[in-house]
Amino acid sequence: MVETRVIDGKAIAAGLRAKVGAAAAALKASHGVVPGLATVLVGEDPASHVYVRSKQKSAQEAGFRSIEHRLGAEVSEADLLALVRRLNEDAEVDGVLVQLPLPRGIDARAVIDTLDPRKDVDGFHARNVGQLWSGEAGLVPCTPLGSMLLLRSVLPSLAGLEAVVLGRSTIVGKPMAALLLAADCTVTVAHSKTRDLPALCRRADILVAAIGRAEMVRGSWIKPGATVIDVGINRVEVPGAKPRLVGDVAYAEAQGIAAAITPVPCGVGPMTIACLLRNTLVAACRRRGLAEPNL
Ligand code: NAP
Repeated sequence: MVETRVIDGKAIAAGLRAKVGAAAAALKASHGVVPGLATVLVGEDPASHVYVRSKQKSAQEAGFRSIEHRLGAEVSEADLLALVRRLNEDAEVDGVLVQLPLPRGIDARAVIDTLDPRKDVDGFHARNVGQLWSGEAGLVPCTPLGSMLLLRSVLPSLAGLEAVVLGRSTIVGKPMAALLLAADCTVTVAHSKTRDLPALCRRADILVAAIGRAEMVRGSWIKPGATVIDVGINRVEVPGAKPRLVGDVAYAEAQGIAAAITPVPCGVGPMTIACLLRNTLVAACRRRGLAEPNL
């Protein structure tokens, strides 16, 4: 039995946001540059409205310029692409975030491909994906980037560790695997067709769960002493009460087995927005050929 350490994503994200805010203030004082983040929200998806509002508020708190575009669900793909092209050209905009998912009829890949990769602060453009896998300095997707910062808060060296990533999405699983590989881990990526997940997970010194299945990873799947990053956010209905948010890992069962684990909520979630701010600041510096702050 070990005492399982809780990785406090909320506190670590607050620290990163404060550092971004200080670096933005220094950029303004030294070069008169105010980073600009443009958000594009299409349609009426309630969760997307909440996410975008929170991103705008965080950007303003960090001293950024927040540029907001809201379009109705009936907007054509051509009109949306035209807006993205205008934002690409806009000198006051350093980062463009098109909130996903997009309404039916709009091809998200076409929108991402149209973004200027230097302003693609979500890190989804094929050029940024290629740069990540080839070890070049592009923009890295926010959730995996935040997950790596959480890992490093408890594991100063990752070299040689065995890492298992559950999930192979382009926004979490695959970029997470690339980052772990770049940090010299031995990485396995698992998915819905993987055989004997429990045995595979039990090999992992680092277990990253990003599958979107409430508490699917049981305590018995976790190697004693492992570090667990739970990316999943799942809403579980509770009769007569408000729905509960849980991760992909059975958190209570992991206690006493994992050396460290991120809680849900207040684990990976807060890091995603903090890393979005970090990426916007980095994009603002790179576009102008200025030294990047070390964040
Ligand atoms: P996604 O696109 O739905 O991908 C899920 C992945 O999990 C897929 O690769 C899928 O395999 C795999 N999978 C699904 N069921 C499985 C099973 N029973 N056994 C093994 N693998 C299984 O999801 P995502 O966008 O990566 O998100 C994953 C989770 O992270 C969700 O809960 C989401 O809400 C959460 N999330 C959180 C944040 C944050 O800020 N904290 C950000 C993004 C996502 P196949 O490829 O074979 O289908």
